[in-house]
Amino acid sequence: MKLVQDERPFKSGFVTVIGRPNVGKSTLVNSLVGRKVAIMSPKPQTTRHRLRAVLTRPEAQIVFVDTPGIHRPQHRLGEIMVEAALQTLNDVDVVLFVIEADKAPGPGDEDVIDRLKGIKTTPVILVINKVDRVARPKLLPLIDEMRRKYPFAEIVPVSALKGDNLERLVETLVGYLPEGPPYFPEDMVSDQPERVLLAELVREKVLHLTAQEVPHSVAVVVEEIAERPNGVTLVRVTVYVERESQKAILIGQGGLMLKRIGQAAREEIEGQLGMKVFLELWVKVRPKWRQNERYLREFGYGQSNG
Ligand code: GDP
Ligand code: MG
Repeated sequence: MKLVQDERPFKSGFVTVIGRPNVGKSTLVNSLVGRKVAIMSPKPQTTRHRLRAVLTRPEAQIVFVDTPGIHRPQHRLGEIMVEAALQTLNDVDVVLFVIEADKAPGPGDEDVIDRLKGIKTTPVILVINKVDRVARPKLLPLIDEMRRKYPFAEIVPVSALKGDNLERLVETLVGYLPEGPPYFPEDMVSDQPERVLLAELVREKVLHLTAQEVPHSVAVVVEEIAERPNGVTLVRVTVYVERESQKAILIGQGGLMLKRIGQAAREEIEGQLGMKVFLELWVKVRPKWRQNERYLREFGYGQSNG
């Protein structure tokens, strides 16, 4: 393989990873690029492609992008949002649809599949993740079932966590990329500073755990990251919402919701960044922040952020 490598044209392209929460999308992208960089979550603005992570090989460069509006299949999106999301699916070179090996496809997956049916030309690769949890023979009925639901270009079982079959997934992916030069320097892994990644992570937990009226009103700002002498990293975060009622939802009865958000976020931050974290969470109300230039800039949604 190595021998003919130089004669093959370089390939590069954009890949988006979709699927229900918790199927392992972030874990997969992290394992593929070999670093903890990916936190997939929607943003309030409708950026076309938000770069998440870059995998550069001698023969190819895969750019993983976030497509807004398609990461919350449980959330009922307006028709325009759905169309925008579908448009971005048409714009990338490959779609990776991730499901879990140990769970029968549920309504969340059906929702994604419905959306996939709106894709016209982009090949969709089905990634059956967490195969470390099931015996091989159990995979066959699932593969059959999924094949009947959608004409996937490929079906690749992997374990993002254990790294099983990821090499095959990369090779398969590269096979579907167009010829072209790399888009980014080869040593670049992500365009997101750590602060943004941490904020995204907390935001993701807020979205997962709260009711539907909150999401678009939430902005998360990491105010401080400080290493403490005891080896614990202090991460001080403010969650901004637009109304007192939303603040009440976020805090919950006796502070229970905020506690759950904080714990889930802390656990994931610790897992993703491999460090002990003390997470301090504050909730503040900024009425109509989405219409306020100053707040938008302050919260990192300025022009330069796309
Ligand atoms: P996302 O919400 O789709 O981004 O999912 P995450 O990447 O955050 O993963 C959700 C959970 O599944 C985490 O606890 C991961 O450790 C776990 N997970 C991800 N991939 C695998 C896998 O291949 N095997 C197992 N057993 N667990 C996994
Ligand atoms: Mg994730």
